[in-house]
Amino acid sequence: MCLVNFSYTSQNLFQFTVQKITPSVLARMIYTWHSDSPVPLEDLRHITLTHYDFEGHINKGELIVHNEVVDDLQYIFKKLFEVKFPIQSIKMVDEFDGSDLKSMQANNTSAFYARKVARTNRWSNHSFGCAIDINPLLNPYSSPKIRVEPKEGEYYLDRTLNLPGMITKNSYVYNLFKERGWEWGGECFFNRDGVIDRHHFQKIVTGLNKITN
Ligand SMILES: [Zn+2]
Repeated sequence: MCLVNFSYTSQNLFQFTVQKITPSVLARMIYTWHSDSPVPLEDLRHITLTHYDFEGHINKGELIVHNEVVDDLQYIFKKLFEVKFPIQSIKMVDEFDGSDLKSMQANNTSAFYARKVARTNRWSNHSFGCAIDINPLLNPYSSPKIRVEPKEGEYYLDRTLNLPGMITKNSYVYNLFKERGWEWGGECFFNRDGVIDRHHFQKIVTGLNKITN
């Protein structure tokens, strides 16, 4: 009798499912959804997907994004899965009491959140479901005014560390997003008071978060 060690299972495959926002998902969007949100709920999608964590395990995460960017994210996260790009967790900010800061401190990856840009009155691109923050502790925000956010990410301001899960210019993750027409917060906000938002990627969609006439 020959025993074959058959280790290849569907568990090892990238999984990505897309659904409209169901009442049960909406009931969990306590903080991130508001009735005055700039996009209608029917244009948002609930994604469940698999990703590698920092221990090399495959975990399941979920994201709320705009329908317009679903294909981009399926392409990008599949590629990241293939190279085992580590992501701490992918959870809705609602799981952190709606606190973007707590989500960042936990190094959590998230997308949709109907909120104004910090310290302004403008809707963030997260409000349109067209922005995503990846491993925010490892890729902290900084500016001459704020210095670093989250504060616990201070150590990671040294980008020469080049640790797994970090996003730097011309890195694999950076190039994937650029290939699909996304902007990186590590370079697109330079003209906004020297802001460097290393965990942030956003897609500008004509007629949605970019008004043209
Ligand atoms: Zn962001």
